[in-house]
Amino acid sequence: MTDHRLEVEDLHSWYGESHILHGASFHVNRGEVVTLLGRNGAGKTTMMRTLMGVVRQRKGKAVLDGTDLLATPPHRVAKLGLGYVPEERGIFSSLTVAENLVLPPIVKPGGMSIEDIHKLFPNLKGRDRTIGTRLSGGEQQMLAIARILRTGADFILLDEPTEGLAPVIVDDIARALGTLRSMGLTIILVEQNTRFATNCADRHYVMDQGRIVDEFSNDALRADISKIDAYLGV
Ligand code: ATP
Repeated sequence: MTDHRLEVEDLHSWYGESHILHGASFHVNRGEVVTLLGRNGAGKTTMMRTLMGVVRQRKGKAVLDGTDLLATPPHRVAKLGLGYVPEERGIFSSLTVAENLVLPPIVKPGGMSIEDIHKLFPNLKGRDRTIGTRLSGGEQQMLAIARILRTGADFILLDEPTEGLAPVIVDDIARALGTLRSMGLTIILVEQNTRFATNCADRHYVMDQGRIVDEFSNDALRADISKIDAYLGV
């Protein structure tokens, strides 16, 4: 038995005939914020969708808190405390902010109260009756994260939360992630924005062609951000 919250070993997955994850291995410790970095198409989103059970064709090992994720049906994964905030955010356009927030069922005790959500994301305060998609992109991202926190999820998979957002909003989201980290939540962050990644995370994994090909401590990456350039193709 390891102390790792999540242990992924030799994980493979497929969309139909397309073999996308090619034996990826990594781990996440309790309370860590870990990024998956890598160029477009490396398999980062597929990794999240495979862990959540949305991608059903998979083999290898993925164990969360001692539970075999590959043997867990998707509707039970949330009950383990794993919450997914997809890149497209999934805000319901016909619902208000308040309705969006309460829609997903509580799956685990300890979910964040609306008061705490407003402390974490002051932009959402006083916006209860605003239609979700009337919010700015950054506010929609906050709502998408808030909605998952309310369910009691304590291990969050965040797919490119900063994509397309103004720097000032990116800083707000970085601050919020800092708060979640200090509260002891475990987070996997898919990111292309290396500055944001190094502001938020403890460790970084690099994905390429469906595998984890490198790992950096945050200090190592901060000391020389160019280490990552070749992988990202910049
Ligand atoms: P991006 O930053 O572009 O989202 P990524 O690292 O998250 O990149 P994925 O979205 O996981 O990469 O895509 C990995 C590979 O899987 C790509 O070649 C992509 O074309 C393919 N792919 C993604 N979704 C599907 C799907 N639904 N059906 C078939 N192939 C897919």
